[in-house]
Amino acid sequence: VSTWSAVPAGPPDPILGVSEAFKADKDSKKINLGVGAYRDDKGKPYVLSSVKKAEELLASSHPDKEYLPITGLPEFTKNAAKLAYGAESAPFASNSIAVTQSISGTGALRIGGAFLAKFYPHAKVIYLPVPTWGNHHSVFRDSGLEVRTYRYFDKKTVGLDFAGLKEDLQNAPEKSIVLFHACAHNPTGVDPTQEQWSELSDLVKEKQLFPFFDMAYQGFASGSTSRDAFAVRHFVSEGHQIALAQSFAKNMGLYGERVGAFSLVTESPEEKARVESQLKIVIRPMYSNPPLHGARIANAILSDGALYKEWEDEVKGMAERIISMREKLYDSLTDTLKTPGEWGHIKSQIGMFSFTGLQPEQCKALAEKAHIYMTADGRISMAGLNGGNIEYFAESVDKVVR
Ligand code: PLP
Repeated sequence: VSTWSAVPAGPPDPILGVSEAFKADKDSKKINLGVGAYRDDKGKPYVLSSVKKAEELLASSHPDKEYLPITGLPEFTKNAAKLAYGAESAPFASNSIAVTQSISGTGALRIGGAFLAKFYPHAKVIYLPVPTWGNHHSVFRDSGLEVRTYRYFDKKTVGLDFAGLKEDLQNAPEKSIVLFHACAHNPTGVDPTQEQWSELSDLVKEKQLFPFFDMAYQGFASGSTSRDAFAVRHFVSEGHQIALAQSFAKNMGLYGERVGAFSLVTESPEEKARVESQLKIVIRPMYSNPPLHGARIANAILSDGALYKEWEDEVKGMAERIISMREKLYDSLTDTLKTPGEWGHIKSQIGMFSFTGLQPEQCKALAEKAHIYMTADGRISMAGLNGGNIEYFAESVDKVVR
């Protein structure tokens, strides 16, 4: 009998499963709105021109393939922290941010979870929004934290349940860890306003909660990397010692290169050095040291004035294409088709995703009858829509809603 005969089959990943169903469909009208990866107006994967130029620069310098340090490429981590916190932020200027390169955003969350499980001096409990990116639950559970939840989304208004959110954080034990999506909340596309972030900063201070920001979409939400960093920078300017997970998957289109960073605000350069020494001890037995190529690309862009400018324009271009798809979809549903229901949230939501409010059976009907694939919670990746398919999508939604 095989050693593994008792291993049960696990459930398929809810998001990657959508891509498999899409691949198997042979209809030419098919649309994949499941996976959160940017597509251009022809529906094709998009390699940024700034990334191509950075790669050409790198190739012409014939760099070696030696191991990186455990915490990654030092210039890259410094530039990543600068992008998130801003050059003028006090902990950045005083060299008090402990930072390490990570295997994209997921790896940053996992390093953060493992570090908190080892060193957070209070109850090791983390509060996640409902709903949240599904992997958050697994990452923090497997890191050794106890996972609890707070209210975030109001199904009735298809918007933020700010009262419920505040009540739940108010009722959480003091000094709990709380995870916030820094911008472009996944899966809802619903973010707090700047005034609401200020209120949350006060509440977090009053309850002495520990804020952990997941910033997977900096620049992707509004088109501006500094506007999207508002929550992070506001909390830091208010004196919070935050944890931060950054990803360059979406905003540089470096998905498979796995480029990210994890950082912690500390009190002083001396404390930063102690914390970084322990980050190394967390990382070394996980994967020894991070991959080289993607960090070199990201660093080439972040450290070169002309490439940086070109990248900023490209991020803005991606965000604007998505925003224009929101407007087109809203107009088609409300003006052209007079589809029953309220669709204002399509325009007010932000970032890669929209929570349409479509019910599971409607999503199923869209897949079976119209070859349109999305997750069963009614979330669509706006980036999967383009000039060639948006009318067909709107008409198909109209049909399943009636
Ligand atoms: N956090 C959120 C909210 C996400 O949506 C994602 C990706 O979809 C990630 C983190 C991590 O992505 P990656 O590991 O590809 O950087």
